[in-house]
Amino acid sequence: MSAPRPLPAGVGDADFGRALAGFGDAVGAGHVLWDIAQLLPYGRIMLPLPDEDHQPSAVVMPASVEEIQKVLAVARRWHVPLWTVSTGRNFGYGSAAPATAGQVVLDLRRMNRILDVDAELGTALIEPGVTYQQLQAHLRERNIPLWLDFPAPGPLVSPLGNTLERGGGLTPYGDHFQHACGMEVVLADGSVLRTGLGGIADTTSWQAHRYGYGPYVDGLFTQSNFGIVSKMGIWLMPAPPAYRTIMAQWWQDEDLGRAVDAIRPLRLAETISNFGTLANATLMLTSMAKREEVYDGLGAIPIARANEFAKARGLPPWVYLFSLYGTPEQIEVDTRLVKRALEPHGATLVLDVDDPLQRNELSLQAFTLLNWNGGGGLCWFSPVAPNRGTDVVRQTELARRIMDAHGVDFMTGMTINGRDILNVMPLVFNRSDAVETALVRACFEELLTEFAAHGYGFYRTGIGFMDRVAELHGRAGHEFALRLKRALDPLGILAPGKSGIRI
Ligand code: ADP
Repeated sequence: MSAPRPLPAGVGDADFGRALAGFGDAVGAGHVLWDIAQLLPYGRIMLPLPDEDHQPSAVVMPASVEEIQKVLAVARRWHVPLWTVSTGRNFGYGSAAPATAGQVVLDLRRMNRILDVDAELGTALIEPGVTYQQLQAHLRERNIPLWLDFPAPGPLVSPLGNTLERGGGLTPYGDHFQHACGMEVVLADGSVLRTGLGGIADTTSWQAHRYGYGPYVDGLFTQSNFGIVSKMGIWLMPAPPAYRTIMAQWWQDEDLGRAVDAIRPLRLAETISNFGTLANATLMLTSMAKREEVYDGLGAIPIARANEFAKARGLPPWVYLFSLYGTPEQIEVDTRLVKRALEPHGATLVLDVDDPLQRNELSLQAFTLLNWNGGGGLCWFSPVAPNRGTDVVRQTELARRIMDAHGVDFMTGMTINGRDILNVMPLVFNRSDAVETALVRACFEELLTEFAAHGYGFYRTGIGFMDRVAELHGRAGHEFALRLKRALDPLGILAPGKSGIRI
């Protein structure tokens, strides 16, 4: 059989063959994939980028920390780069594919044990391959009254992978990294670090206390390539005695600014502790219509057209969907506070909405987004705004102008926090159309440049755009990351290019 292509950068055929044999010794030959057909799913991306720039050379699937250490020894010996994924379903940010062609995907899905759930403290210790579905089933089968917080593609993905990307969900535990407690990390040299209180022999409090003693380093292993995280603690929310999901609707496109300004005090006071989403009509339409039903003209869907189509189906230009939690009495009081805060600012409220995600049910409903034009292209543009109407309106106008110029439909589902907003915009496109794909890529690059020029940064980005985004966030931060990288991984074998970090 011929050797797989591409090869890792700088590694010849013969050495790569030796590395594959070494990986086989480390994890068992059946857990090393290198046949082109087997690699296909790992190179499948949704981004507006050429497939060949992100094809892995092989996949290695260890089942334990010891096997990771053996794989690392082989990678160091032959200078083979390893791109680590937990479940590899980072859809719209690169899925399982590496930042550069030829890296070996280190797929941790076989490490899928739930090591501990403490029902009293509301904590869990999990391995990388554990999915939200699996953890949810574990809790439900044992009648443990704890809620998981999961991101939109919840059932399929891993709490560990999502947290390392600093992803989020909807409940008060929606900032996942803020609810991570203790990591086990295998470093490039094979040594094993346990963060927080994990270093105490027979530790009793690893998942209970986040910081430990001395520098708090957990953040260094998020959105980075300084180690392979092999275990992570997470906190789980006590199931609330009651909750009420509310939809606040604003009926004019121009209401966006006042909607944001009206919501902010409720989030800051934590009257609304849920990480609710403020979505525009076009995003909502993706769950009920196909694009061609809404618009068959040239270019991006005109906002007026999307809003008119939505209004005919009872949906306004802007919808904020969120939940209140507590006892029924608390919820009554909070409902009054919400009404008092939002109704004078143009909102109409629909109480007791039934939404699976807000009900803490895992659902694949978010994937209806991909049916919009059935073209398989998805690329998330994720700028951050301060939580102020003027900034959000400015971002929206800027994004609409750039997207219109490239024929891309404007959609947003903003996560409203206390002080900031993650203005998460999916660029949905037909990836089999080369012209459209090129336009989306150009659009995305212009969005990055223009938003940074207006003083906005980004909460996350996908492969192919990481170097650019790192550059936009400033030289000193990048230099600092490089110094850490040189110290921790002098051969540069861990995920070169992740977040723009490479030796
Ligand atoms: P999910 O499938 O949960 O959305 P992935 O497994 O695709 O997430 O992981 C997302 C990204 O996080 C990967 O591309 C990689 O950069 C990083 N990552 C995931 N798991 C690990 C891990 N165990 N150690 C280090 N980095 C990881």
